[in-house]
Amino acid sequence: MRKQLIGAGLRVIRASRIDRVTANLTRGLGAILMFHHVRPDNPERAGFRPNGFLEITPEFLDAVIVTLRRLGFEILDLDAAAAWIAGPSRPEAQPFAVLTFDDGYRDNVEHALPVLRRHGAPFTLYVTTGFADRTARLWWHELELAIARADEIDVEIGSERLKLPAAGDAEKTRAYEILYRRLRGGPEETLLTVIGELADRYGVDGRKLVEDECLDFQEIVALAREPLCTIGAHTLTHPMLAKHDIAVVRRELGESRQLIAAQIGRAVSDVAYPVGDPTSAGPREFSAARDAGFVTGVTTRPGMIFACHAAHLTALPRLSINGNWQEIGYVEALLSGVPFALWNGGRRLNVA
Ligand SMILES: [Zn+2]
Repeated sequence: MRKQLIGAGLRVIRASRIDRVTANLTRGLGAILMFHHVRPDNPERAGFRPNGFLEITPEFLDAVIVTLRRLGFEILDLDAAAAWIAGPSRPEAQPFAVLTFDDGYRDNVEHALPVLRRHGAPFTLYVTTGFADRTARLWWHELELAIARADEIDVEIGSERLKLPAAGDAEKTRAYEILYRRLRGGPEETLLTVIGELADRYGVDGRKLVEDECLDFQEIVALAREPLCTIGAHTLTHPMLAKHDIAVVRRELGESRQLIAAQIGRAVSDVAYPVGDPTSAGPREFSAARDAGFVTGVTTRPGMIFACHAAHLTALPRLSINGNWQEIGYVEALLSGVPFALWNGGRRLNVA
């Protein structure tokens, strides 16, 4: 339902051409784009794809870059963008775009890098050290694979017993949504325990999943030599930081920064907060990131970048390139900044 509403809104914005009229007001200085997986479509998984929004095709990445340049966006690396945001104000007719990839997926090297190279487009890859050394868990993938293999979900979450039918694609999708929402709202330990039990029950090997999907340090070190690439940090274990003690937050931010820097032989000045919504990263995390030595920090809060972000460089919003919306018209509407102006009620800064 929400998906349909958003789609309708984006179509209205495109049809009305309101994006052209208001762009100078709503687009601001530019945008930081967020990507996850980049790989060819897998038709086998067409029916039940709860994580499909985290995945686009290489052709669509290509089309996004072409569109950015056609619309006059200059593609910058994060250092240059930070200087641009904090520096003397630029003409808004010449916006910037930053391309960012979260988690450190191997498909980013296999399928995104050739496209980025072809366009000479700089990009940032945020590495979770626990994915690189195979100690952290892609719990949202584990949950998807477990439900894909189940006919019925029967779990205990705290004192509550949850039984959900999961026979066909529609039931699986609904079961995923209910479980995801229920677990995401609670403590991280419960989420990891419940999904771990489901993974065991349905023979999902979490470690193998990470090995299959994520770059290891050897591959990350090789990628770091790529002149277009900036390596950023995405913590040690990919936790929802705001749910943990400040000591955990400091360790996750500081140690991941040092570990990655030691591996790639270069300072790491950029961080992406895992999950990145307000329940995962807030003012405490934004200042902890600064204390840990990061210059920029990106969230998953939606929004464009304005001059007022100069005072909040570790609390930057992003524009999600959503795999469920692989149509250039939607991306153009988002790049106008109009949807964010509406969603954020005209507010440019969302850092509380
Ligand atoms: Zn992530």
